[in-house]
Amino acid sequence: MKRLVIKVGTAVLTNNNNIAKERMLNLVTLIATLKKKYDVVLVTSGAVAAGYATLKLDKRKQIGKKALAAAGQPILMTAYKKKFDIYDIYTAQILLTEDDFDSRKRTKMFQEIIDAHLENDILPIVNENDITSTPEQLFGDNDQLSANVAYAIGADLLVILSDIDGYFDKNPQEYKDAKIYRTMNEVPKDALIDISSPNNEFATGGIVTKLKAADYLLKRGKRMFLCNGFDLSAAESFLLEDKHTLGTLFEPAKEIESK
Ligand code: ADP
Repeated sequence: MKRLVIKVGTAVLTNNNNIAKERMLNLVTLIATLKKKYDVVLVTSGAVAAGYATLKLDKRKQIGKKALAAAGQPILMTAYKKKFDIYDIYTAQILLTEDDFDSRKRTKMFQEIIDAHLENDILPIVNENDITSTPEQLFGDNDQLSANVAYAIGADLLVILSDIDGYFDKNPQEYKDAKIYRTMNEVPKDALIDISSPNNEFATGGIVTKLKAADYLLKRGKRMFLCNGFDLSAAESFLLEDKHTLGTLFEPAKEIESK
């Protein structure tokens, strides 16, 4: 079966510092359908924001953020578990840091753990291990973590679900006339150093980290699809019907030529 990594961001998963339960359920329902066609790995943000529901600490301070992540991770996983239970899907929690990709031995270890889960029809749910890691050990956002996971486990595609329809020529939240890029074969260098900030106060990425994820995968001959996580219809059409309605597909040029 083809492997798929789905990354969902804070913008989609949280609403006013709480888990956006209905959106989470829609995502879980989509994953339950996708699992018939793909081996799915979920990379999820939202722990820091979920922690804030119980603990009002300053997430801009390092210890505050870690304490929030520690409090929020079980809340996040419990919310997922309740919803995956509806579909009889077992889940597993995998917390990783950048260090896990540094040595072959460590990468091989989590690859094998994920293989074991997928072979046994368990859904691995990955998040960055914010809690005990030093800033040097962290990606700092799940966009790049998910790209690294996708490549390491030989996934065919990374899908990033965000609060926008795709990658635009300018920020669509600010400019009504922003135009979406339907496909991109490479990420322009200057787009990778843009300082566009994330939309949500608990989000860490913004568009640049998504472009970095795309760049990482394109350079390794892999694909990434950036689409809307509020309205999952573009993801559904693309993944279940092979129809590209909306969303930006980052695809290496070679694949297009050989079509
Ligand atoms: P997530 O929580 O899903 O990771 P972020 O808030 O980190 O989402 O990043 C998505 C945000 O990036 C969008 O809401 C949008 O405001 C911003 N953005 C800035 N420039 C662009 C662009 N050119 N195309 C799309 N989104 C952009």
